[in-house]
Amino acid sequence: MPTIDSFHAIEILDSRGRPTLQVTCQLADGVKASASVPSGASTGKAEALELRDGDRNRYRGLGCRSAVSHVESLITSHLANAECQTQRQLDEALLELDGTTNKSRLGANAILGCSLAFCRAVAKSIGVPFYQHVAEQFDLQPRRLPRLSINLFSGGKHAGGQVAIQDVLVVPIADSVTESLEMTYEVYQTAADICRERYGMRLLTADEGGLAPPCTNCDQMFELAVEAIAKAGLTDRIQLAVDVASSHFESDGTYTLDGQDRTGTEMIDLLSHWVTSYPIVSMEDGLAEEDWQNWTSFVGRHGEDVRVVGDDLLCTNPGRIRRAVAEKAANTLLLKVNQIGTLTEAAEARRLAVEAGWQVVISARSGETEDNWLADLAVGWSGDFIKVGSISQSERLAKYNRLLEIEQETGWKIEGSV
Ligand code: PGA
Ligand code: ZN
Repeated sequence: MPTIDSFHAIEILDSRGRPTLQVTCQLADGVKASASVPSGASTGKAEALELRDGDRNRYRGLGCRSAVSHVESLITSHLANAECQTQRQLDEALLELDGTTNKSRLGANAILGCSLAFCRAVAKSIGVPFYQHVAEQFDLQPRRLPRLSINLFSGGKHAGGQVAIQDVLVVPIADSVTESLEMTYEVYQTAADICRERYGMRLLTADEGGLAPPCTNCDQMFELAVEAIAKAGLTDRIQLAVDVASSHFESDGTYTLDGQDRTGTEMIDLLSHWVTSYPIVSMEDGLAEEDWQNWTSFVGRHGEDVRVVGDDLLCTNPGRIRRAVAEKAANTLLLKVNQIGTLTEAAEARRLAVEAGWQVVISARSGETEDNWLADLAVGWSGDFIKVGSISQSERLAKYNRLLEIEQETGWKIEGSV
């Protein structure tokens, strides 16, 4: 039975150069393992609290020393010598120690680091791959790999807002990670060539490594994606996904994009135009995080045609997922473990979604580290999709490279409809 010796944390920097945590869990048997915590920029209001120091003189208030200190003192003294037979036991002990609804005492970043580091340490101690252990802990039996959705173009908060929508992603129709990446590389490079010719751009990229062309409206960005796919000769083999991230250009029920104000109903008309004009298979956060009624209307209109994916709407929060299932406000969960804070709660979010017949997209954050645990999680939890960002920048490639390793090791295929 795994017995905890101690937790340690250090402040490290994420892919935007902002502080985050790397937590190490030391077990009594001498095994230790670490995990690093990601961080979002276009965050949902219902996310668990990411504890920052607020000292403007250090990293403009973004320091994580208080979260580090909670790991080293409060969490370690509470859990040293504790025997945790399951991941659930460890996570419940962390939740009890925190005692708040939004993890504001210890910080969701401190809690998640411990949750992940413990899970990894136990996997190492018993000698099984992380994807297998994280599956077994929640009674799951993975047999397939997730389909990739890879950022091609960026806008919104990840790219200075030159276009309102946050991501246009490619979804390769292939049954292996290897082939999916080959196809995506072709499209990404073709799109970069077009951008260079048309806009005179260098290969400068946004937070998740996507290209950020100065399109004058969203349609132009979709057209550019379709053009790049066609020029790469992959029209029949690549579909599109979108993260509209519309909470970030909505205020009091008005959506401001492409130089125009729109009501919720007009926003649905625009989403509908995109769905019918472009090969879009997945529409994330097309409506704002509290615009529940319009989410339901959109599902009524296009729920059979596309995945209606809730990110800011759901925040990987079981309560919000229950509401969305009851109100038919979405049909796919975007799962980001740090939105909720522990593996156990994220597993519950996943279970609710799957039981409702939804699909699940396991997602990275815009602020990532070189840690690759997300790939194991996406495989272990049989994610229908994984969303990591573009095929550039090492914090993204660490996950794709881990997927390649798992593919080689297991011989599993990407399955399921596109
Ligand atoms: P974030 O963006 O990590 O900045 O929230 C990712 C997303 O919106 O899916
Ligand atoms: Zn999103």
